[in-house]
Amino acid sequence: MAEVKSVEEKVAEVRKSKQDELADLDLQIKREELEQLRLTREERQYSIRKLKQDLADREVKDLQKSSDRETRGLAFRRDKTSNELRWKSCTHKKGGNVSERDMKVLHYGGNSEQYAVIRHMFPNGDIWTHCQRCGKTWKPPVKANFYFDERGVVVPEKLGTFDQERFNKTLKEYHEALQFPTKNTMSSSHVFSFVRINEKGERIDAKEETRLAMKDVDLT
Ligand SMILES: [Zn+2]
Repeated sequence: MAEVKSVEEKVAEVRKSKQDELADLDLQIKREELEQLRLTREERQYSIRKLKQDLADREVKDLQKSSDRETRGLAFRRDKTSNELRWKSCTHKKGGNVSERDMKVLHYGGNSEQYAVIRHMFPNGDIWTHCQRCGKTWKPPVKANFYFDERGVVVPEKLGTFDQERFNKTLKEYHEALQFPTKNTMSSSHVFSFVRINEKGERIDAKEETRLAMKDVDLT
């Protein structure tokens, strides 16, 4: 005999099945949420790994850069020291005997009254004196070249301390070199005044600026 269900029973059955369905849906949503969370976590972990790698790469690059700079600085300082030694040992004078055995007078200068220097006047009126024997060039000192760090290395203005004494010494040597007697004639560029018009339309004497622009230039 077929089971006869009462209305209440049927309603209860439907309710039960709907509740099961709801529970299933709920479970599914929770699973998806979990999956989403897992993905987010993996993504975040990947980003962290990538960031760490990038940072490590950058650190390696920075290290490389600074070691390149150190090497270049060292080579530059070594050159500078050997130049300065040569300049110091030179008399900057003509004369002396050059023999096959002894060529050093060519680089260390002779003993004549006359100096082995040539002078050149630049368009801004500056005069540079250049020794033909050792290659030393005396030019008006520029303040920007007299900032030193604690190791005594020339550094940009902001990073060092200005050495007034060294500046004065170089200025004095520059004036002395201008007095070296020589029969060599001075070469010159056409001399004109350097004027720059600034944003306000004022005329600015650009002589010092020209000097600054040529601060690292030497005659060879
Ligand atoms: Zn010299």
